[in-house]
Amino acid sequence: MKQYNSIIVGGGVSGMTLALLLAANGRKVLLLEKAPTIGGGLCRFYKKGIPFDTGFHFTGGFVGTTTLHDMLTVLGIRDSIRPIFLDRENSNQFLFEEEGRMLSVPAGREQCCARFESYFPAERAAVKRYFQMVDRVIEATPSFDLRKISISPDPLDEDHVTLQHVLDSLTQDKTLQAALSVYCMCYGTRPNEVSFANHARVSVGFYDAIARVEEGGDAFIRAFRSAFKQHSIEVRCNTTIKECLDIRDRKVGRLLLSSGEEVTADECIFTIHPHEILKILPRQHFSKAFWDRVASFGSSNGFFSVFGAIDSVELAADAAPSLMSVVPRADVNLLMDPEYVGPQALAIFQSQELVRDKAVRVLTAFEPSYFQQVAFWKDSRVGCRPEAYSVYKELHASSICDRIRQVLPEYKDSFKMYDAASMLTFRDYLSTPDGSAYGIRQKVGQFNLFGKLPLRNFYAAGQSAVLPGILGAMLSSFVVARSILDQQQYNTYVSKRLCN
Ligand SMILES: Cc1cc2nc3c(=O)[nH]c(=O)nc-3n(C[C@H](O)[C@H](O)[C@H](O)COP(=O)(O)OP(=O)(O)OC[C@H]3O[C@@H](n4cnc5c(N)ncnc54)[C@H](O)[C@@H]3O)c2cc1C
Repeated sequence: MKQYNSIIVGGGVSGMTLALLLAANGRKVLLLEKAPTIGGGLCRFYKKGIPFDTGFHFTGGFVGTTTLHDMLTVLGIRDSIRPIFLDRENSNQFLFEEEGRMLSVPAGREQCCARFESYFPAERAAVKRYFQMVDRVIEATPSFDLRKISISPDPLDEDHVTLQHVLDSLTQDKTLQAALSVYCMCYGTRPNEVSFANHARVSVGFYDAIARVEEGGDAFIRAFRSAFKQHSIEVRCNTTIKECLDIRDRKVGRLLLSSGEEVTADECIFTIHPHEILKILPRQHFSKAFWDRVASFGSSNGFFSVFGAIDSVELAADAAPSLMSVVPRADVNLLMDPEYVGPQALAIFQSQELVRDKAVRVLTAFEPSYFQQVAFWKDSRVGCRPEAYSVYKELHASSICDRIRQVLPEYKDSFKMYDAASMLTFRDYLSTPDGSAYGIRQKVGQFNLFGKLPLRNFYAAGQSAVLPGILGAMLSSFVVARSILDQQQYNTYVSKRLCN
């Protein structure tokens, strides 16, 4: 029977981060991935040679020495990840359809604040106060310093109030409220559920500067794969844990893998959706309260996505990527309500890819979506869906294409759709329970599944643990690695890598 120090379940960005951190600190690691390849949401797919991104399009965190910069430095892969920033002046454009109003937001917290003040002159004080509050949260959040992270940092006052509560106390202007909360759709929890602190922690990266990465998520996967070669990391794809065996004194002795092999490990860390973790844990060793708590986590929104490209557009070699958020109603809570049936929000992201030495404008559109929309076909799998589902998908994709041509009339004749994905597509490709994009909704007062589990050698990390998105996913892995490794060893390692 093979013995490992650490077994990591899930080969997405969280699992790869953990594998590298633990192996670099001398641990023998086995990384288990259910899919045929590692990468999870980072994986790209190709249509007619054009690369499209699945679950990683853009992120904040590339300006200055931020947490993302530090994490990539510690992992030794910073030089392999090359950010391409959105246009500084018009980093994100918000089209408020009902008001017939377009807001163009620049990069930079101060610049953002000034632009919002100019758009909402009567609400200057509210805008200023909002950005001051964001700054305060960032300054007071210890986990943004990799040397100070911990599983249970002292919460801030802003961790206990919802974003909506703060917005209501600042302004009654609904368009301003929507403009300040629209990034909720980029992390999946509604303004009336998310804490102001978590909203600030995610949004600050978008305010500072939004960037995509050259070669998208594939750049991360390649960098991790290459770094893995220098350490004792064994990767097994198409493999998961079938059963936990020999449980004594709240410790799991052996693990039966889906391949039929049995292995042992000092610890096993899950980086998958909490509901998928429940499918593996031995129910009888957990209290009903624990089980009910985890089972009750609600899922974030997902997206119905359309992947396309612009034919015959002459592109400047350095044309910047761009992001436009179409907001049909100035009410983000309503737009993110699973029961809402009116016109949906739409984010349209444009980037440039080199395909056979020719620059191609790639366009991805995401419409927030919930599993209810496709629940009727939940028992079907990729490749063998019923006809009615195919009709639904085709009609839905075509209505999104019409909207794209409507808001970007310059592409009326040149936009071509190459593929589309519903929540069912994402569920089956990413092995999540329901295709949600950001794992669970991280609500005020909720006690997420994070760190040590009631079985002593089992841990949980991943994007549902601390913060969603790839940044939050990686951060969760640093926190868990710190609690597994000797803290002195972790601190020395991180400090040394950051000084190099
Ligand atoms: C449509 C969409 C768009 C997104 N856009 C962005 C974006 O632009 N920016 C951003 O920061 N984030 C974005 N996200 C979120 C981002 O993809 C995630 O935050 C990130 O990929 C989470 O990484 P992870 O490692 O925690 O999980 P995942 O990437 O989901 O990896 C988990 C891995 O575990 C595997 N797995 C599942 N169950 C098992 C099992 N039982 N045994 C073994 N392996 C298992 C899965 O196959 C998967 O490879 C988007 C997500 C979606 C779906």
